[in-house]
Amino acid sequence: MKYADYEHWSKWAASWGQNYLKTLSDRPVRAQTQPGDILKQLEVSPPEQGQPMETILADFDRIVSDGITHWQHPRFFAYFPANAAPASMIAEQLVSVLAAQCMLWQTSPAATELETRMAEWLRSALGIAPHFKGVVHDSASTATLAAILTMRERAWDWRGIVSGSAGEKQPRIYASTETHSSVEKAVWISGVGHKNLVRIPTDKNYSMRPDALRSAIENDRASGMEPAGIVLCIGGTSMGACDRPREILEIAKSENLYTHVDAAWAGAAMICPEFRGIWDGVDAADSIVFNPHKWLGAQFDCSVQFLADPAAQIKTLGLRPEYLETLGQDEVVNYSEWTIPLGRKFRALKLWFLLRAYGLEGLRSRIRNHVLWARELAQKIGRRSDFRIVTEPRFSLFTFQYTPNGMNASRATEQLLERINDDGRTYLTHTIVENEFVIRFQAGQFDCTRDDVLSVYDIIVDLMEK
Ligand SMILES: *Cc1c(COP(=O)(O)O)cnc(C)c1O
Repeated sequence: MKYADYEHWSKWAASWGQNYLKTLSDRPVRAQTQPGDILKQLEVSPPEQGQPMETILADFDRIVSDGITHWQHPRFFAYFPANAAPASMIAEQLVSVLAAQCMLWQTSPAATELETRMAEWLRSALGIAPHFKGVVHDSASTATLAAILTMRERAWDWRGIVSGSAGEKQPRIYASTETHSSVEKAVWISGVGHKNLVRIPTDKNYSMRPDALRSAIENDRASGMEPAGIVLCIGGTSMGACDRPREILEIAKSENLYTHVDAAWAGAAMICPEFRGIWDGVDAADSIVFNPHKWLGAQFDCSVQFLADPAAQIKTLGLRPEYLETLGQDEVVNYSEWTIPLGRKFRALKLWFLLRAYGLEGLRSRIRNHVLWARELAQKIGRRSDFRIVTEPRFSLFTFQYTPNGMNASRATEQLLERINDDGRTYLTHTIVENEFVIRFQAGQFDCTRDDVLSVYDIIVDLMEK
């Protein structure tokens, strides 16, 4: 295919896409394929000669679309939403044509300056204090890794960059038992080590216990270790657990610990002022991450990290070999110094398109509806004697269990969930709450309706006795 044919095939892709979106709700939500089904349709070796686009696209249509779990399906209620609002899809299309690298201001001035302004728009949209500066990463996992590396280096006064861990005390990182697995992974990758991630127990609301945090820090200091940082959880993946930032961040300040708030999923809800009480006090954090690519609607991938003072992270990740020096331009921002990879995609464009196409009010009303409808569904399920709401809705996420007479509830719930997902009309996933197998429901798909959400009740009732 030649550059001159771009428009032709791009139009083909657009009309394929339009048809896909139109027929999306008739498709089974979860791919109904078996492992290896797709692999056996793919040639074992790459072609020696180029093939016509017609052939490639026909194979795409035939092989790929049935092997996809449809994350944009209006009855996708599994995991978390990974939205792609149409305006952000168009931005991605343009980014793919520009194909620019956005590591330095100079390598794409428009990308850098849009990133600065979009981070600022989002900061104010979320009601975070004006001193925070934002940067866009691919994922929350990367932002969290950047924060954990910063915790380690700050605790070691940046000696680790030069000498590794030789001669340093063990850095200790504190997080509740509800924090995401990406925190665990960041601790391994950063060389802090799994054993130095201290899991603080939670109270009856699944929030980190401040007293337990305090005594863990004290014990560690007493045994010669180096408390380095705290990761707070706002909207845990299992059932939406939230730590209480005001109390935890006060402890962090008095102990001189670096803090990172993981609000990857729930952060989007903070565009609605009525939810902000949940992270009251968050302005005292050093770092906050949230994923516009989840609930807010930006095409994956797009994760925004806000930093109270970027200096510590830049000191940890910034790298300036001579060939990247942009002489005489020290006043410009080079975002690759804030992030792990050098090469960076132009992710701010989709934020610009998203925020302008729907406006904050348009995005807020979607989130408010999701929360409202999820509560309505939870009430409907909770009124039945053969079901139990295990954790009440936090934002739009709740968990429940099927409790038929004379059956083990965890087993009955697991079997029901299998039937639901084999059926294909909707897709739900599970979690474990206090050793019980529970079904997890979250609403957040960009275009879902109240009927889509409430249909889950009918599907469950329809399938529970089969
Ligand atoms: C989704 C999620 C993550 C991981 O986000 P990625 O962008 O996929 O790395 C981390 N923490 C929480 C709370 C999440 O919901």
